[in-house]
Amino acid sequence: MEDCLFCKIIKGEIPSKKIYEDETVYVFEDIAPAAPVHYLLIPKEHICCAKEINEENSKVVAHIFEVISKLSKENESFKDGFRVVNNCGESAGQTVFHLHFHLLAGREFQWPAG
Ligand code: 5GP
Ligand code: ZN
Repeated sequence: MEDCLFCKIIKGEIPSKKIYEDETVYVFEDIAPAAPVHYLLIPKEHICCAKEINEENSKVVAHIFEVISKLSKENESFKDGFRVVNNCGESAGQTVFHLHFHLLAGREFQWPAG
């Protein structure tokens, strides 16, 4: 997707602080962190949002959660708990229309989310 911010980040056209990368997933620091640790996990394939996950592309979502598990064991900030967030659609707060999971850690979290 030519005009997609996260596709540009994956291609290196826009700089990012990379945390992890493999064949199908890219992980980088959020530019406006909402917690001491705030990563964004994205599929390299452009999927606009959770509504577009289907039988053909859902493998990458399972893999993203494997990566979350791996990262959570590598950093002390995750030891007391962490939060994974996906915003789908404008009224849920989605601002970048390339599927992404926020991974937040290092502070207490409230529920319900705002
Ligand atoms: P959303 O609101 O769509 O769930 O999340 C989009 C996230 O992308 C926000 O937390 C925002 O701070 C982050 N973001 C927006 N532009 C950039 C950017 O250019 N670089 C990085 N690293 N994060 C960005
Ligand atoms: Zn994209």
